[in-house]
Amino acid sequence: MSGDAGIIIVGAGECGARAALSLREGGYRQAITLIGDEVHLPYERPPLSKQVLLGEMETRIPTVLNDLVLAEQAIRHIGSTSADAIDTSAKQLLLSDGRALPYDKLLLATGAAPRRLPNAPVSRRIVYLRTIDDALALRFLVRADMHVAVLGGGFIGLEVAASVRGRGARVTVIESQERILKRGVPEPIAETITALHQGNGVVMKCGVAVLGLEADEQRVDISLSDGDAISADVLVVGIGAQPRTDLAARAGIAIDNGIAVNERLETSTRDIYAAGDCCSFPHLLYGGRRLRLEAWRNAQDQGILVAANLMGEVRSYQTVPYFWSDQFDHTLQIAGLVDEGRMVVRRDLGDGAFILFHLDDQQRLVAASGVGPGNKIARDIKLSEMLIARRVTPPMEALAGNANLKSMLPRAA
Ligand code: FAD
Ligand code: NAP
Repeated sequence: MSGDAGIIIVGAGECGARAALSLREGGYRQAITLIGDEVHLPYERPPLSKQVLLGEMETRIPTVLNDLVLAEQAIRHIGSTSADAIDTSAKQLLLSDGRALPYDKLLLATGAAPRRLPNAPVSRRIVYLRTIDDALALRFLVRADMHVAVLGGGFIGLEVAASVRGRGARVTVIESQERILKRGVPEPIAETITALHQGNGVVMKCGVAVLGLEADEQRVDISLSDGDAISADVLVVGIGAQPRTDLAARAGIAIDNGIAVNERLETSTRDIYAAGDCCSFPHLLYGGRRLRLEAWRNAQDQGILVAANLMGEVRSYQTVPYFWSDQFDHTLQIAGLVDEGRMVVRRDLGDGAFILFHLDDQQRLVAASGVGPGNKIARDIKLSEMLIARRVTPPMEALAGNANLKSMLPRAA
């Protein structure tokens, strides 16, 4: 590729860090600059709501890139600095410290930020979870004799509930929908997760809204639409995340539920790409439907693919979506897109574990979702992912029974 200004990556998270490494692995020789507004080196977020809160990772922050690798790979990391503006005609990035950095190509991997609860009082007892600093602050705030209220029965809420309950705290989850995990998780799995939490002593309150919220530096008082009043030591708010699109929007880049990219992860502005939680893209495996995924594997895979395209390749993103969530001793995993109204075939795996296979009108496997203790469902979900990618139409009775999913994969030509 031409020019010697090199590639700048905005966002030193999972996606940005993976893209930087992949550029070097792919033989890119010019300058790579990774800019992040956090003080830390790029680190993994999944352990934040799990091992870090449980206290199993007391001092070691799980990094994606450390100083040694940065030096070996000649990747320049600029931390504690935000990219504030893009001058697209001069091809320069303007930083919060006043510097203007030229680029040949720019990758926006700005991630997502927690949705804030409107009109909430400001108190150190009302917290959000996105960063390692958030996780450590919550870990040191919560004690076993406390009552922790969790607003939102999504992934953050449920993982935090399991972790702080695991530390002995009393926990109440408040969800405004009639059930937890309403978006993208089938009802039978949500029922299993609900029972798992209740069995571990978590109070689950669904279909209730917060009518009033008062807080000082010691307590949070919450009044609910069912007439209940909760007095908690801490309120954790997990009511969704919003893509960080400001920088792109200010530069005139198209936004559509995230920074809008095509299947090659190119934005509407030449030489600027976007990937990870911050972008929406047309998914070729699902008829070009525009999606935005907030999942670790997607951030990695898009980081790797966008690195190839930044070096001049022409690759389209069509990986099967996948995510997992660990709560207590159970794992929930979903490969593909779960849409309501699809035909579903159930396979029981023992110990309460099961997988749901989701089929389209042509009986093509389009998603597989499952839940169970330990790694009971992992193998079948992995194989399902391969079946989905290869657009297989497996026999329904074989899916329901014990047939080896591997035998349903088409043989290599
Ligand atoms: P991010 O990781 O958010 O990184 C973006 C970075 O860019 C951030 O550091 C941000 O501060 C920085 N940034 C933004 N704008 C600017 C700017 N203008 N200038 C400089 N820097 C900027 N997924 C799963 O599949 N399974 C899990 O179990 C799981 N657990 C999770 C637990 C928690 C607590 C959280 C928060 C997420 C979890 N995820 C999980 C989701 C997964 O971590 C994300 O999908 C992934 O981190 C997205 O990577 P990203 O690089 O796109 O964004
Ligand atoms: P989420 O999974 O979208 O869940 C948010 C939940 O809060 C939804 O059930 C939502 O219901 C509910 N909600 C929204 N507004 C509410 C309100 N005012 N009162 C009560 N409930 C409300 O988002 P999240 O759990 O906050 O997670 C944030 C980010 O972290 C996401 O990017 C997520 O992917 C990531 N994360 C992922 C994992 C994982 O994949 N294992 C784990 C932790 C975090 P509606 O559907 O009605 O909006």
